[in-house]
Amino acid sequence: MLALEVGPGDEVIMPSFTFVSSANSVVLRGAQVVFAEVDPVTLNLDPDDVEKRVTKRTKAVMPVHYAGVGCDMHAFAELSQKHGIRIVEDAAQAVDSQNGGRFLGTIGDIGCYSFHGTKNITCGEGGAFITNDDKIAERAEILAEKGTNRSAFLRGQVDKYSWVGCGSSCILSDILAAVLEVQLKKRQEIKQRRRVVWEAYAAALQALAEEHRIVLPHVPDECDHNYHIFYFRVASRDERDQLLKALQAEGIGATFHFVPLHSSSYGRTSLKNDQQLPITDRCSDTVIRLPLYPGLADQVDSLIDATPTTIGSMMSARKGA
Ligand SMILES: *Cc1c(COP(=O)(O)O)cnc(C)c1O
Repeated sequence: MLALEVGPGDEVIMPSFTFVSSANSVVLRGAQVVFAEVDPVTLNLDPDDVEKRVTKRTKAVMPVHYAGVGCDMHAFAELSQKHGIRIVEDAAQAVDSQNGGRFLGTIGDIGCYSFHGTKNITCGEGGAFITNDDKIAERAEILAEKGTNRSAFLRGQVDKYSWVGCGSSCILSDILAAVLEVQLKKRQEIKQRRRVVWEAYAAALQALAEEHRIVLPHVPDECDHNYHIFYFRVASRDERDQLLKALQAEGIGATFHFVPLHSSSYGRTSLKNDQQLPITDRCSDTVIRLPLYPGLADQVDSLIDATPTTIGSMMSARKGA
C-alpha cells in the first residue's frame, strides 16, 4: 500500500473472508477497506461483486488466493483496465501455485507472499514482494531499505547511499534467508507430500460428497495449486460446530476460519463497517479445515481410516435425526 501511495480518501476492495493482514495493510495507511463477497464455490473474491463496489476513490483491488487456488485473474485484469485500478495479489497462501500457466503473485501489479510458519514454504516469519512495474519496484526498494537507496548502491548504480525517502526495515535477515533457501530447494518435495495428504482426504470423502452431505473444494481447470489447505463445507454452523467437536474428540486437529473481517470486533467498531455480506457469512459458518502438513504423508492410512468414519457417522446421525 505504501508502494502504491494509498492514503486517506482512497478505497481498497478485498474479501472479508481473509486473514487480518490483508486489511491491516490498508488500515495502517488511513485508507478505507471495502469488503466484497467471495464466490461460494472457490471461496475466492467474486469479481462481479467487486465491480459493484468500485467508486471514484477505488485505488486497488486485492484478490486473495484462498487455499492456494487462483482467483479469476482474467476478470480482475479486465476490471483493472476498465476502471484504472491496481491489482495487489494477496498470494500469502499461494507460493508455487499457478493460474493459466502463470505463477500466482506474478499476475497483478504487485504480489505478496508469506513465509510465516503456517505456510507451505517457511522461514518462521517472512515474505516476498513481487512487482512487474519498474516504478513500483524502485519505490519498494527504498521503502524496504529504511528509506535509503542502498539497493542501487549495492548494484553499483550510485557511489554512496543515503536517506532518500520514507521507509522501514523490511529486509529478511541473512539467517532467515538461509533457512528459506533450503525450504525453496525442497519446494517440489513439500508440494508432493502435501498433495498425497490432500488427495487422500478428497478420495476418502468423495462418497459423502456424492451423497450431498458435504461439499469438497473446487479447483478450476486452469489452476495448478499448492495443496496449502484442505477444507470442505457442511450445511450449517451447528453442524460445523458438532463435527469439529467430534473430530477433535478423535484427536483430529480440525479447525475453522476465518471470522469474516466485517463481522469481527475491530471491523464492527473501528472500521464502522456495516456491510451486509450474507454469502461470506454463510461460507465462513460452514468451512471445516483438516490438518495438512508434509509429515502427515507418512500417516495417510490411519488418517483416512479415522477422518471419514468420524465425519460419516456424525453425518448419518444427523440424517437420522
Ligand atoms: C498468512 C496470511 C497473510 C499474512 O502473512 P504474514 O506473513 O503474517 O504477513 C496474509 N494474507 C493471508 C490470506 C494469509 O493467509
